[in-house]
Amino acid sequence: MTAASDHIIGRFAPSPSGALHFGSLLAALASFVDCRARGGRWLLRMEDLDPAREPPGAADQILHLLEDLALTWDGPVLYQSQRLEAYEAALAELADQGRTYPCDCSRQRVRALGGVYDNHCRHRLSTPTGSSAIRFKVPDQMITVHDRIQGEYRQHLRRDCGDFVLRRRDGLIAYQLAVVVDDQWQGVTDILRGHDLLDSTPRQLALQQALGYRQPEYAHIPVAANHRGQKLSKQHFARPLQRNSASDYLYQALNFLCQQPPVGLRRAPPAEQVAWATAHWDIQRVPKLATIPVNSSFS
Ligand code: GLU
Ligand code: ZN
Repeated sequence: MTAASDHIIGRFAPSPSGALHFGSLLAALASFVDCRARGGRWLLRMEDLDPAREPPGAADQILHLLEDLALTWDGPVLYQSQRLEAYEAALAELADQGRTYPCDCSRQRVRALGGVYDNHCRHRLSTPTGSSAIRFKVPDQMITVHDRIQGEYRQHLRRDCGDFVLRRRDGLIAYQLAVVVDDQWQGVTDILRGHDLLDSTPRQLALQQALGYRQPEYAHIPVAANHRGQKLSKQHFARPLQRNSASDYLYQALNFLCQQPPVGLRRAPPAEQVAWATAHWDIQRVPKLATIPVNSSFS
């Protein structure tokens, strides 16, 4: 019998900020098959921490579409909106370690820095009086991700990113904190997601280290892009997926991931396509690229 800790646990963690598009389907399918091909459990987590950006019904729509696609998850769906106490506990733990500080820098000031925060409030002598964000003191060291698809990816957080926000000024918990707390709590061993999140990974590793968490394995697949090279996203008007075209989407997704599905699989029912994909999954075939253009029916 293998110990539970040897067991693979994967997850799909959509933000219900709109309907699924082809780009999110790729991450769902690839993480599902990568996990199931190794006998793992596959969990679903709704990253619903920003109600102002979540149209009513979007989370349920995502669940229905995943069902149509025969991507069946294990156990109950975890909703991040129900997990605020756990994030506050992690914040308290980091505060106890002296790893956080309040920051009341204006949005303009931060924007003018062009993406690398200068740790201004780390060194100020007085505590801000008004509402403030909470930032994490990043370690002054190179962090290396060993990605199963993209290879080695490095960032020196102090130079490349600076201290980053864990809780926003308006009280919203930042994605970077919530994601590591929940990956740990759900026992996730394997994270497979889109390449757009590769540059978040060093921040997540730094938080895992500070909180004494286990470090999962990472794999980042290329993201689907429109003909202008922009990542498919709601901002770029990616087409929402329709419920009656599941087989067509899955077949195209397997092609995108270079899994070489046989032509006969094109019209097979989703459950059959997904079973084929699981039996034939080869992560080595996934291109080591950041983006791949897709045809205009998706963008
Ligand atoms: N919720 C994030 C997104 O939809 C993904 C989080 C993750 O996979 O780490 O972009
Ligand atoms: Zn500040």
